[in-house]
Amino acid sequence: GSRGADESVDSVCPYCGVGCQISYKLRDGTIAYVEGRDGPANESRLCVKGRFGFDYVASPQRLTVPLIRREGAPKNLDVDPTNPFTHFREASWEEALDAAANGLARIRDARGGRAVAGFGSAKGSNEEAYLVQKLIRQAFGHNNVDHCTRLCHASSVAALMEGIGSGAVTAPFNDALLADVIVVIGANPTENHPVAATYFKQAVKSGAKLVVMDPRGSTLMMRHATHRLRFRPGTDVALLNAMMNVVVTEGLVDRDYVATHTEGFERMEAHLAAYTPEAMAERCGIEAGTIREVARLYATAERAMIFWGMGVSQHTHGTDNARCLISLALMTGQVGRPGTGLHPLRGQNNVQGASDAGLIPMVLPDYARVGDEAVRARFEAAWGFPVSAQPGLTVTEIIDAIHAGDIRGLYVMGENPAMSDPDVVHAREALAALEHLVVQDIFLTETAMYADVVLPASAWPEKTGTVTNTNRQVQMGRPALPPPGEAREDLAILVDLGRRLGLPWDYAHARDVFAEMARVMPSLANITWERLEREDAVTYPCPAPDAPGQAVVFGDAFPRAGGKALFVPAGLRDPAETPDADFPMVLTTGRQLEHWHTGAMTRRAGILDALEPAPTASLNPRTLARLGLGAGESVRVETRRGAIVLDARADAALQEDMVFVPFAYVEAAANVLTNSAIDPDGKIPEFKYCAARVVRA
Ligand code: SF4
Repeated sequence: GSRGADESVDSVCPYCGVGCQISYKLRDGTIAYVEGRDGPANESRLCVKGRFGFDYVASPQRLTVPLIRREGAPKNLDVDPTNPFTHFREASWEEALDAAANGLARIRDARGGRAVAGFGSAKGSNEEAYLVQKLIRQAFGHNNVDHCTRLCHASSVAALMEGIGSGAVTAPFNDALLADVIVVIGANPTENHPVAATYFKQAVKSGAKLVVMDPRGSTLMMRHATHRLRFRPGTDVALLNAMMNVVVTEGLVDRDYVATHTEGFERMEAHLAAYTPEAMAERCGIEAGTIREVARLYATAERAMIFWGMGVSQHTHGTDNARCLISLALMTGQVGRPGTGLHPLRGQNNVQGASDAGLIPMVLPDYARVGDEAVRARFEAAWGFPVSAQPGLTVTEIIDAIHAGDIRGLYVMGENPAMSDPDVVHAREALAALEHLVVQDIFLTETAMYADVVLPASAWPEKTGTVTNTNRQVQMGRPALPPPGEAREDLAILVDLGRRLGLPWDYAHARDVFAEMARVMPSLANITWERLEREDAVTYPCPAPDAPGQAVVFGDAFPRAGGKALFVPAGLRDPAETPDADFPMVLTTGRQLEHWHTGAMTRRAGILDALEPAPTASLNPRTLARLGLGAGESVRVETRRGAIVLDARADAALQEDMVFVPFAYVEAAANVLTNSAIDPDGKIPEFKYCAARVVRA
C-alpha cells in the first residue's frame, strides 16, 4: 500500500468520544502510521492524537509480566515505572490471578461483598465494561461499581434522564452542518473533540451562527464564533435562566411544541419571572443586551443545536446547568428534528458505551434502575443470580468509604484514580490504605503503584471489541498487534478472574459477550456482532436488521411516562468554595489537545509528548502582569488542599483572576488542588471551580 505498509487493519481511534474510524498501517509488525477512514463520525478526518498518538503501544514501559507487591514494599508514588522491581516481583499468571481473586474473596467472606468495589473503564470495550459490572454484581452481590463517567457527564446524564428520559445525545454532532445556530457552552471542542469542531467551523463558513459561551473562552473556538459570551465562572444558571426569561417575556416560546411534547411549563414560566437579563447581567458578567440578542437568535432559528462539555457538568450545580440547557431547547422546540438537539459531547472514546453497559452503581445495563423490582426480576431471569436492590457507591464515595474502613478491597481496570480523582492526595491515601488492590492496566500507572497485584493488559490496538461514540454509533475495533510479552487481552483476564471468584463464565470471545448484551439491552436491538463486522458502525436505536439506525431521536415522543419531556426549574447556587482574601482566584482544570486525561498513554507517545512536554498554568496576561510574573516563569498554584509548581503561560482566553491547569501531569498534578465537593444529583466533583492563589515559585 501507500508509504510501504505491509498490512492495513480497520479500527476506531482510542482517544475521544468523537469515534473517528482509522486504519492502522503496519510495517514489520509495528504500527508505522495511521490513516483516517470514511466513518460516519469523521469522514476520513483525524486530529493529532488519532494520527500520531499510537507509539505508546510500543513503549518500553509497557507491562509485560504479572506483578505482585514485595513483602513490606511501601505504598507510594516512589516507583520508577521503567523498573517496578524495587517494589514488585514478577509472578506467573496462575499465581497473580490466584492472588488477585483470593485477596478479594477473603475480604468478601470476612466482611461481606460490600467491602469490595470495582472501577471499570471508559477506555475499554463495551464487552469489557459489561463484564466488569457483572463481575462485581455477581461475585460480590452488590452494586459498588462505577467508572469515570462520574467525573465527566454524570450530572448531564442525571438531568437528561429526568427531563427527557434518555441520557444519550438527541442528534449527532455532524448535524451542526444543518443548523442555523450552534451553541457551544462549557466545552472546548477544538482541543477536546477536534474532529467535531471541524464540523462546527465548516457550518460557520456556510453561514451558521456560532455562539460560544465559556468563562475560559478558548481562543481557538472563539476565533470562529459569531457571538462570544465569556461569562463569570460558576454562573451558568444565571445566564441560561436569563436567556429563558427573554424567550418567555418576548413571546418566543414554541407554544405548540410545549403543549404537545412537554409538561411542567407553567411552573417553569413562573420560576423564570425573576431572572431578567438586567437582574442577572452583573452576576454573570454579560450585558443584558447581549443576553437578549443571543436568546432571540437561538429561539427564532429555524434549526439550532446545543453542545456542551465538562464546563457545564463538572460543578456542584452541574445537574442544574444541564437542566437549564434542556429547558431552553424544549421551550423553543429545538429538539427532535435534523439540525436541532441536545448534544453533551462525550469525553472518553467509550464513556457512552460503558455507561450503557451498566458500569454505574445505581443502574443496570441500559440505565435500568436497581431499585425497581420489575427491572431486577428481568435481569435475575436473564443472569441467574440475585441483583441487589440497593444502589452502590460512586467513585468519590468509594474513596470516602475506604477512608471509613467500609471498603477494603478494590479492583481497578484501566482507570487511574490516583491522578483523576479530585483532592487526589486524599484519594492516594485511600488507595494506600486498602487491604487488597488489584490493578489491570497496560502501564504501571500512578494507581498501579499502590496495587498488591498488577495484571498486564492489552492496549486498544491489541484487542477485539466494540465501542460507542458520542453520536450513539456502535463501532467495531479490531486487533492489529499481539499484546507484548505475557500481557493478555483484558476480556480473557476478566473471564479468568471471574472463574476464580466462582462464576460459571464461559465467554470465549467478545462476540459471546456482545450476544448476551444484545439479549438484555433493548438499545442494541437489531445490532449484531456480524452486522458490526460487516458495516463497522451502526447507530442505536435501530428499527430493523437491515435499516440504518436513527440518528435523530424524539421527534414524536420522549421515552418518559406519557411520552412528554419535563421542565425542571433551577435556582442560583454558588460553587462549593468561592474566592476570599487568602485564595482570591478561581482554579479551573481540563485537558489539552495533545494529552489525554491522566497522560498514561499520550505522555508515552513521542510526538504528542514533544508537542506539550511539561505542565503549565495558564493565566490572563493582565493577571500575570498584576502578579509581577512573566510567561515562562515558575509559579506555585495553591489551594486549601495542596500546592503544585509549574510554568506560567499567557492565555488571553481566560478571564482575569482565573488559572487553568491541565490534569495530565503527575509532576504537577492539578487534582492535588481540586475540591471533592459533589453535585447532589449527579455526584460529580467540582473540577471546574475552586478558590486558589498563584505566587512566584
Ligand atoms: Fe481520535 Fe477524537 Fe481525534 Fe478523532 S477527534 S482522531 S476520535 S482523538
